Amino acid sequence: MILLDQIIPARAAWEHVVRCGETLRIVDLEGNQAVDFLMYARHDDSERYSVQDTIAAQKNLFLRSGSVLMSNEGNPMARITATSIAYHDTIGGACSCESNTLRYGHHTKAQHACVENFLTANARYGRGKRDIVSNINWFMNVPVEADGTLGIVDGISAPGMYVDLEAQMDLIVVISNCPQINNPCNGFNPTPVRVVITCSARS
Ligand SMILES: [Zn+2]
Repeated sequence: MILLDQIIPARAAWEHVVRCGETLRIVDLEGNQAVDFLMYARHDDSERYSVQDTIAAQKNLFLRSGSVLMSNEGNPMARITATSIAYHDTIGGACSCESNTLRYGHHTKAQHACVENFLTANARYGRGKRDIVSNINWFMNVPVEADGTLGIVDGISAPGMYVDLEAQMDLIVVISNCPQINNPCNGFNPTPVRVVITCSARS
């Protein structure tokens, strides 16, 4: 049963509750669109997604079908039940006005960035800057070179590619549909994505 089916416009913020057992599908409608993603336990938002716990638990840097997304308290928050792309990033971080200025020049200071989207979506729940932790970048291609250097390079996603996340606890999901235009993570052209929440018929 479909509980929600929405389009997140290019550059926009989005947040929603996903209950335990429900599946959130994110669709990269036009391809090469990074979807920056945070999640918090609904019962106590001091429990939230942890890159470190997730990487340690699966002993791999990349998120693939079967990956379990862990909280800072070592609990499973969600599981990737299916995805049509080889892997997703969780080490590249979220773009901000500050990092844009450092990387791309002072003229980018006024450009919209993912951290502003996260702050906007989180403000509804009373969360601020200290609650923004390392995130997931769905559909973003961040290879690790032999010397440990990270790249932000052309995407491996394509129109219609998706990821399905099955919630393992009640979650508040926060998304920034990345507005970055200074590197190839969005193909220099931010585009809309689709989010669909479903629950199985028996529940
Ligand atoms: Zn971004």
